[in-house]
Amino acid sequence: AITAQGLGKVFNGTAAVDRLDLAVEPGELLALLGPSGSGKTTLLRLVAGLEAPDAGRLLFGEEDATRLAARQRRVGFVFQHYALFKHLTVADNIAYGLRVRPRRTRPPEAEIQRRVGELLDLVQLNGLGKRRPAQLSGGQRQRVALARALAVEPRVLLLDEPFGALDAQVRRDLRRWLRDIHERTGHTTLFVTHDQEEALELADRVAILNRGRLEQIGTPDDILDRPATAFVAGFVGEAV
Ligand code: ATP
Repeated sequence: AITAQGLGKVFNGTAAVDRLDLAVEPGELLALLGPSGSGKTTLLRLVAGLEAPDAGRLLFGEEDATRLAARQRRVGFVFQHYALFKHLTVADNIAYGLRVRPRRTRPPEAEIQRRVGELLDLVQLNGLGKRRPAQLSGGQRQRVALARALAVEPRVLLLDEPFGALDAQVRRDLRRWLRDIHERTGHTTLFVTHDQEEALELADRVAILNRGRLEQIGTPDDILDRPATAFVAGFVGEAV
């Protein structure tokens, strides 16, 4: 499990993440849902090691994650705005995280090629390995980004509004597709969104954030049928 205990991060005197307690169970897809500024991205960045906490603890299993540098945490990250390397082919983008490893942990090139083939298969982009990102649709680029994140066999997959820039139909297709991939690969996943419908449809559990605090965590049914606070009732109520 990934566990936050009293985790806090302050920017300019304001708590972006405010003494948060949260546990992500192994293999679950947990959606972080909340309005703009509620601390979702900051929480992901703390888990990734891109920010250092000001308070509390962050554990990966039993291990104190704050002792691990970002690159030692083995997290896979997908952002809203594709961070693919424009000058690299799709296949080379996917292989990137493996090729930059130090020699002693880097798989042999034949193994890398095999893994890239498997991942292209998984994200349904067979035959497109030689293209450049500019020759793909937005949805296809996000599938490449997911394959690249999965290539390093991450302990946790962090998805920050990965479908936020896509149109409604593509979003709905990718939502179903991601759910399917999740069921097949079983990665522990944190999925940030401010879209209630997306969170409730996609996630095993939903954590609702407001001003850096956890309002409620539960299954989509819990959240819909038994909102714990007026904030949750109001926020989720907008969706239905
Ligand atoms: P959004 O849905 O708009 O991305 P969010 O829920 O992801 O919002 P965060 O981006 O985590 O929210 O921001 C939480 C709060 O922390 C906001 O008030 C934001 O202005 C502040 N904040 C985040 N990062 C920084 C930073 N690097 N410097 C200063 N303030 C920051």
